[in-house]
Amino acid sequence: MQEWKLQMQNQVDSLEKLEEFINVTPKEREAIETINTKWGTTPYFASLMDPDDSNCPIRKQVVPSLQEKENRYGLENYLVYKENRATDEDRPDTIARQYYDRVAFTVMNTCANYCRHCFRKELVVDGSLKLKFDINEGLDWIKEHSEVRDVLITGGDPLLLSDDKLEFLIRKLREIPHVEMIRFGSRLPIVLPHRITKQLLKVLGGYHRVPVWLNTQCNHAKEITERTAEAVYDLMSAGINVGNQAVLLKGINDDKQSFKELHQKLLTVRIRPYYVFYCEPAPGIDHFRTPVEKGAQLIRDTLRGHTTGLAQPMYVVATNIGKIPLMPDYYIQDKNEKEYTLRNYKGQVTTTPNIVE
Ligand SMILES: *Cc1c(COP(=O)(O)O)cnc(C)c1O
Ligand code: SF4
Repeated sequence: MQEWKLQMQNQVDSLEKLEEFINVTPKEREAIETINTKWGTTPYFASLMDPDDSNCPIRKQVVPSLQEKENRYGLENYLVYKENRATDEDRPDTIARQYYDRVAFTVMNTCANYCRHCFRKELVVDGSLKLKFDINEGLDWIKEHSEVRDVLITGGDPLLLSDDKLEFLIRKLREIPHVEMIRFGSRLPIVLPHRITKQLLKVLGGYHRVPVWLNTQCNHAKEITERTAEAVYDLMSAGINVGNQAVLLKGINDDKQSFKELHQKLLTVRIRPYYVFYCEPAPGIDHFRTPVEKGAQLIRDTLRGHTTGLAQPMYVVATNIGKIPLMPDYYIQDKNEKEYTLRNYKGQVTTTPNIVE
């Protein structure tokens, strides 16, 4: 059997198996025994957890917490609201729409790691939102909507589909004349890099009119290994660009050092930071949420000017009306008819002419 399938078969999803990797604390044990939630990860990702530190940034994304029972800010039926599922436009369950020219195509609800902070928790972790995953119905809808030029395949984790299913999906999408690009959102390069096999690269890769892009999710430098580096190199060698969509998570990456290290280390394995997301108001994840401004402040204090320009993600709040970017707000200090006064990361000030149109 292929290594990635073995990893999935041996998912670490019981107290017994978890104890092979870490010394489970009484609180973690109580959470696992009392919360009715889907959880689990791959043996590979489990082996990256610190066995003795319950504050380990990977451990907090893997092991359920009693805090998941608390919910002050999370919205009920969050995904229905966020993905505009209750609006007038008639769409299949698989199609989430916020924009005119691109859609999210949700093809399944299983994952290799059930992230405790997942904003799609209702669909993926708790199972309170049931969708009909009819891929043909989704393909037909896209075919009928000639304005859709970019299809983002998501889940769950779409790269857990078999090579045959992925081949079918990509082939059918490429047959649609108005589809210009295909994107995958997948955590597998981070939580199950074994999935990037030669056979998969044949399916995803190669020169084609309709390119395949991939965004993964990595939230802490500790998640990046030699295996990640190899998987990303293989993807890129096959023609697939790899970006990162991190989630800003309290106690995991919202300190200056972790935030900076994450973005620098991503580049060392050829992953280009794309987005950092504000932790969305889905139910049961309040304990991961920072103030909204935090992401922009971290970019101001640790990234912009402080390190490589390629290491700069855009910080966004994902909402029902699309992603709203939040920039650090100090750049323009003053403006008059003659000039702008601009400030840099060190607090130095300069001017540039105000050219009137
Ligand atoms: C995030 C998202 C997209 C893609 O947004 P980009 O800014 O183009 O990466 C498209 N549709 C939906 C519903 C989304 O949530
Ligand atoms: S991989 Fe994505 S969809 Fe799956 S649990 Fe993690 S955040 Fe949610």
